[in-house]
Amino acid sequence: MSEEKIQGVAEYFGCNVFNEETMRARLPKNVFKSLMKTRKMGVPLDPDVAEVVASAMKDWAVEKGATHYTHWFQPMTGVTAEKHDSFISPVGDGKVIMEFSGKELVKGEPDASSFPSGGLRATFEARGYTAWDPTSDAFIKDGSLYIPTAFCSYTGEVLDKKTPLLRSMEAVSEQAVRVLRLFGNTTATRVTTTVGPEQEYFLVDKKLYDQRKDLIFTGRTLFGAKSPKGQELEDHYFGNIKTRVAEYMKELDTELWKLGILAKTKHNEVAPAQHELAPIFSTSNIAADHNQLTMELMKKIALKHGLVCLLHEKPFAGVNGSGKHNNWSISTNDGQNLLDPGDTPAENAQFLTFLCAIIKGVHEYAPLLRIAASSAGNDHRLGANEAPPAIVSMFIGDELQKVIEAIENDGTVESGAGTKFQLGVGILPNFIKDTTDRNRTSPFAFTGNKFEFRMLGSADSISCTNIMLNTIVAKELSEFADILEKADDFDKALKDLLKKTIKEHKAVIFNGNGYSAEWVEEAARRGLPNLVSTVDCVPLFAADENVAIFEQFKVYTRSEIESRTEVLLENYGKVINIEALTMIDMARKDIIPAGLEFAKFLAESVVTKNSAGIDSSVEKKLADKVSGLVASIDSATAVLEDKVLGAKNTEGAEATAKYFRNEVFSAMQSLRAVADELETVCPEKVWPFPTYGDLLFRV
Ligand code: ADP
Ligand code: MG
Repeated sequence: MSEEKIQGVAEYFGCNVFNEETMRARLPKNVFKSLMKTRKMGVPLDPDVAEVVASAMKDWAVEKGATHYTHWFQPMTGVTAEKHDSFISPVGDGKVIMEFSGKELVKGEPDASSFPSGGLRATFEARGYTAWDPTSDAFIKDGSLYIPTAFCSYTGEVLDKKTPLLRSMEAVSEQAVRVLRLFGNTTATRVTTTVGPEQEYFLVDKKLYDQRKDLIFTGRTLFGAKSPKGQELEDHYFGNIKTRVAEYMKELDTELWKLGILAKTKHNEVAPAQHELAPIFSTSNIAADHNQLTMELMKKIALKHGLVCLLHEKPFAGVNGSGKHNNWSISTNDGQNLLDPGDTPAENAQFLTFLCAIIKGVHEYAPLLRIAASSAGNDHRLGANEAPPAIVSMFIGDELQKVIEAIENDGTVESGAGTKFQLGVGILPNFIKDTTDRNRTSPFAFTGNKFEFRMLGSADSISCTNIMLNTIVAKELSEFADILEKADDFDKALKDLLKKTIKEHKAVIFNGNGYSAEWVEEAARRGLPNLVSTVDCVPLFAADENVAIFEQFKVYTRSEIESRTEVLLENYGKVINIEALTMIDMARKDIIPAGLEFAKFLAESVVTKNSAGIDSSVEKKLADKVSGLVASIDSATAVLEDKVLGAKNTEGAEATAKYFRNEVFSAMQSLRAVADELETVCPEKVWPFPTYGDLLFRV
């Protein structure tokens, strides 16, 4: 790329964002300062300040051609929501001016009745509130000023994914600062969790996509025989990017950069037609907002290139599905990454304290992390030898493993040039950052200065994962701080605490192959939960021990958790229901007629050939096979229809979800098996949909 081009990006980067630089340039000094206090230290926003900010924001947006504003929020649907209001305000004489008040900036009142609430809000209680999140920048998109907001019901219950995320960040900050003080840090006043989500996706040709109802209605293929070639040659991963895809990626990067999103890495993934985009990390709530925008733009821009972007976790059977790696760390506002082992013994000891808190948290609250990655789509991946198993464990690498063992056993560990260290709190080994040792099969892997949570599905919001992580870690840090603050001999107390923690919670550490069958058995021996599907884990969300920590840190109330459980389970049932109905439709209207037509052609051919005295045994054999398969498809469809109807007899979200999993989903698999077999014996001309080969290799 030429020097000019690079400068070009630097100039337009963030041009559609009302960011700190723009605020500094456009706001009076005192207003700017006050807003920064709110952003960086959580000081409540002064209404007068909001008034000035609103006016400056509006002027800036109007100059950039915006006519509307919208409170942009993240309801429990997992996608974002927006309602647009124009800035116009009549001034008589049939004229208008563009206006936007502090009140309008800070608070909106959308009708909330059609968003999922899991029974939290009676339908007559239609009002909801959106409240500005001043820590996430407003931006312009499609002629509107977008204001990132939190969303709650009229009575104050949380209805979105942003509010609990912000609360969990607060919780972990408060507890981490307590621990830092014990290590003599007097300067850090806040700690933020940081996230860099790596996003996987598929691209398929729009013309082919349009011929498949399953892709249109469900985002994944419900039928489809394997193509002769899949991902076995491993020639796609990091492979040369096709021109059409490269053009798409280029436009995507440009649009993301304009929105201030730090898109950094792009490459081809393992499966054919699969790709990945990773941004540079930012604070969790901004990363969550940016990931939502990234997914939205991925889809929109694909259409401009005659492509469709599939974010589903498992668009194709037989090749890898898509995940999202949530790289997570904690840093202080005085610039220290708390998951960086550091160079000095003191830094090492502090690092080990945070590490042990994380180990304990992941062990005690594994089901919460599993829940964060649960959806009908992601059930296809977890435990299917392409993504981590459904068992939550941690990888820490060999070097850290040795350190942990030495702490547990009062042993020594070799460091660098063969020097042995007796592990005491003041004397920890100067370990080298472990960046080379990678374990791709672990759900939660330490990667040198951060943890990578790998269970998340590609279509999921990253909010839930980070709400869980932050709350769990806040809980353990608060326990540690309670113990250590009371200690007379800090060094001894710390050493005892770490030793005890490792002894009791090392079962969650596993550095081996997470895809192996042996691990499933070993994990069972260790007592680690193996929550295979969404319906197995989601009901645990409302278990007493989980409710207790969310209430302790004011992230969720019990009723908010119960409502979320309800929403997740209902959503699961709805997704499977739509998939089942789509399969029935495709089987009845497309697949069976195609099979019958082919069978008829063969039968006619048999008659013609027989009357001409020509051998028709091949046609006869094939006609029998096709007829047999069509009959099987017909009866499997009938079974599925029955099962879908049977869902009406279940009561409650959990029972319904379990019914869909155990009865409907398995009937879908049986139908697919026979239909896919028919596809393999039908000529391509006869088959009603584009094949896997077309979809995966014709971009
Ligand atoms: P990998 O070897 O897994 O590709 P990278 O260093 O490229 O590792 O990072 C992958 C992702 O992790 C990127 O999105 C990156 O921004 C993010 N990341 C790096 N450091 C941190 C951190 N301290 N906190 C959160 N995410 C981080
Ligand atoms: Mg990756």
